[in-house]
Amino acid sequence: MISYAKELLVAQLAVERACRLTKLVSDSHSVSKSDHSPVTVADFGAQAVIIAALQKVFPQDPVVGEEDSAILRVNKTLSETVWTLVQNASADKFSSEIGVIESESNMLEYIDKGQFAGGKVRRMWALDPVDGTKGFLRGGQFAVCLALIVDSNVVVGVIGCPNLAIDPSIDSDNKGVVFSAVKGNGAFARPIGAPLNEGQKIFMRSINGATNATFCESVEAGHSSHSQQAEIARRLGITKESVRMDSQAKYASIARGDGDIYLRLPVSATYEEKIWDHASGNLLVQEAGGIVTDMYGNELDFSQGRTLKENKGIVAAAKNVQPEILKVVQQVLSESI
Ligand code: AMP
Ligand code: MG
Repeated sequence: MISYAKELLVAQLAVERACRLTKLVSDSHSVSKSDHSPVTVADFGAQAVIIAALQKVFPQDPVVGEEDSAILRVNKTLSETVWTLVQNASADKFSSEIGVIESESNMLEYIDKGQFAGGKVRRMWALDPVDGTKGFLRGGQFAVCLALIVDSNVVVGVIGCPNLAIDPSIDSDNKGVVFSAVKGNGAFARPIGAPLNEGQKIFMRSINGATNATFCESVEAGHSSHSQQAEIARRLGITKESVRMDSQAKYASIARGDGDIYLRLPVSATYEEKIWDHASGNLLVQEAGGIVTDMYGNELDFSQGRTLKENKGIVAAAKNVQPEILKVVQQVLSESI
C-alpha cells in the first residue's frame, strides 16, 4: 500500500505556512484599513504559498484551486500587498522542504497554476486557500484546505483551522488546529505549530441513535437550507440547537467528536458544490469513522471536473447513524417537491 508520507508532510507544512499567513492578515491593521478586502489578500497569499510548495516537490501535479491572478495583474498595489505578506509568512523553518517564492511575478504564476479543470486524472490536488471567507471576516471559523486526489479518490486531506479551539473542553481561547488524514491510516489533529509527529488520533463520537446527536450546518442560509435541516433534526428527535459554523471546520469538528452530524441541503437547484469545499473534509470524516454521502446516499464523485456535478447536498455522520439520517433526509426532500 502506498503511504503518501511525503505528500502528507508537504501538505501539512504548506497548510501551516498558509495558516500563519492568514493570521498575519487578521492581526494586521494596515491591511484591513486599506481598500483591499483582507479576505482577498489572504486568499491570494495562501493559494500562492501552497501551490509554490506543491510545485517544488511535485512539479507534475496539477492543482484545482479557487483563485486566479487576474485581479492582481491589473491592481499593482494589491499585488504588492500580497507579495509582502507572502514573504513575511514564508520566514519559517520549512524552506528546505517547501522552498520560498522568488519573485512577485513567480507568485502570480503560482496562483494561476490553480486553474486546472479537474476530471479523471491520475493525480491532482484540490485547494481552498481560505474556505469560509465570511467566517474569516467575522473572526469566526475558516479553514485552509488541501487534498490529494488519486484516480478520483481523496487519499490525503489536510485542514488548518486557525480559529478552532485546540480542546474546547479545557480552554476555548486556545486556538489553532491542523487536521490530517491519509486514506486507510486514520485521522489526526495537532495544534498549529506543534511538531508533526505530535498528532493525536481522532474519532467520531459514538452515539446510540440520532436523538442525542448535535448537528452542524453553515452559518450562511444561502449555502444550505436551514429550514429543511431543522425539520430533519426535529424528525430525528434532536432537541439540541444546531451548531452553526463556516467552512470545512464543520467536517473537522464532527471528525473529532465535538458534534455528530453535518447536513448541507441545497437551496439552489443549479448550484454545483466545488471539489475544494469537500475533498479534505470528506476523507477526514471517513478516516475518523464516519460516512459522507450526498443527499441521495451516493458517494461524492471527484472525477467530474472542478465541481461535484453528479452530487447534491451532503450528509455526514458516524457510520452507525448515517443510514438512519439519510432516510429522514429523503422523506423530507420527497415531501417538499
Ligand atoms: P460554508 O462556510 O459551509 O457555508 O461554505 C462556504 C462555501 O460555500 C464557499 O467556499 C463557497 O464555495 C460555497 N458556496 C457559495 N455559494 C453557495 C451556494 N449557493 N450553495 C452552497 N455552497 C455555496
Ligand atoms: Mg470554500
